[in-house]
Amino acid sequence: MTGGAGFIGSHYIRTLLGSPGADDLQITVLDKLTYAASPENLDEVRHLDGFRFVAGDICDEALVAELVAGHDQVVHFAAESHVDRSIHNSAEFTRTNVLGTQVLLDAALRHGPLSFVHVSTDEVYGSIATASSSETHPLSPNSPYAASKAASDLIALAYHRTHGLDVRVTRCSNNYGRRQFPEKVIPLFVTNLLDGKKVPLYGDGLHVRDWLHLDDHVQGIELVRTRGRAGEVYNIGGGTELSNRELTELLLEACGVPSTMVEYVADRKGHDRRYSVDWTKIHTELGYEPRKDFTVGLAETVAWYRDNRDWWEPLKARAERLAETC
Ligand code: NAD
Repeated sequence: MTGGAGFIGSHYIRTLLGSPGADDLQITVLDKLTYAASPENLDEVRHLDGFRFVAGDICDEALVAELVAGHDQVVHFAAESHVDRSIHNSAEFTRTNVLGTQVLLDAALRHGPLSFVHVSTDEVYGSIATASSSETHPLSPNSPYAASKAASDLIALAYHRTHGLDVRVTRCSNNYGRRQFPEKVIPLFVTNLLDGKKVPLYGDGLHVRDWLHLDDHVQGIELVRTRGRAGEVYNIGGGTELSNRELTELLLEACGVPSTMVEYVADRKGHDRRYSVDWTKIHTELGYEPRKDFTVGLAETVAWYRDNRDWWEPLKARAERLAETC
């Protein structure tokens, strides 16, 4: 597993190793521990026999070859994941997301047979004004982040078509939940509001995103890992579409603060207006259904940040230092 010290990867591994049948699993996490990582995210599983952590880069061919050789599946989460950072400096996005994915695929090909789940994003489809993007929708990424993910998806699928490697791609919508680095909108806004600071809302605030709880994303990835078909793409949606303004209003309410805490700021460059994925395929083929009610999930998330300042305060300071150097 790559990127296991990040937001989604760590939740995935905590869920897997906490589930029935986990005694049969041996999972090695490869993670470079970039600014976005939190090794503490893995404290719950660190002591388990089935868990091993390796600090390293997915672009390191020798290390990746050695690790892949000892495993029968790869679940690939590692990425540079913050769109705003990709606008200021996209080099690391291209290196990690594109080159890193290709290094992993090469190792999987040489040391297989094994299956490879590549975790991607709805952002590869670009903005869609009405209806929803199905898996066959043309890729039209707009940010350097989205372009790097689209490139990695295409390389992954090419390894299936060219070499027959068992590659499965997932494309999910915006994730939310506990332990998300406080540069992304929900933890950024919640932690600002808990600190009595205003929240910066981009443009007119009418950009629309579909929200997917971490538990549901993990459910979808597990269905694809265990029962998905080689060479297929599966969209994973959450079923709650909101404009950023609507989301902000819910966060203000959850934190008990007035609308004067919102500061409208200049829009993000190339800001996609709306993402929406059609997840009929994973529903009909694999039985996926988002289970977490958004109101409940959001309340739990806000409560988690309220109760876990020790976790996010150092990360927030790190994020602010990084933003100053951008
Ligand atoms: P994250 O930024 O929280 O974590 C990324 C992890 O990858 C970190 O632990 C980091 O140290 C590691 N990493 C980065 N570069 C690496 C490298 N070169 N070698 C090894 N490890 C490296 O990201 P996340 O939000 O957990 O996202 C996980 C995956 O899901 C990504 O592929 C992302 O594109 C995708 N995704 C995320 C969302 C979302 O809402 N967060 C939505 C759609 C898709």
